[in-house]
Amino acid sequence: MSFIYNKNDARCMWCKRTKNPHPDFNFETIPIKVFKSKKGRKIELCFSCYEHETKAIDEDIDFEEKLDKKFELLKLLNL
Ligand SMILES: [Zn+2]
Repeated sequence: MSFIYNKNDARCMWCKRTKNPHPDFNFETIPIKVFKSKKGRKIELCFSCYEHETKAIDEDIDFEEKLDKKFELLKLLNL
């Protein structure tokens, strides 16, 4: 699993963090990875959110579909 380090405009779309949480990398942006949702959205997630999503994965719904559901929920809540 390769994450993108030091992407200038890196921002996790779930937790909204932009800074690397590790104290040794204070001045770096958060490492993110871009996932493609089932509906073709580009979803940028940090490592901890990605871990959380894959750990909580439901057998009836695949990861790509889950990204859309969460994205739509966040939009609905205006977050
Ligand atoms: Zn995150």
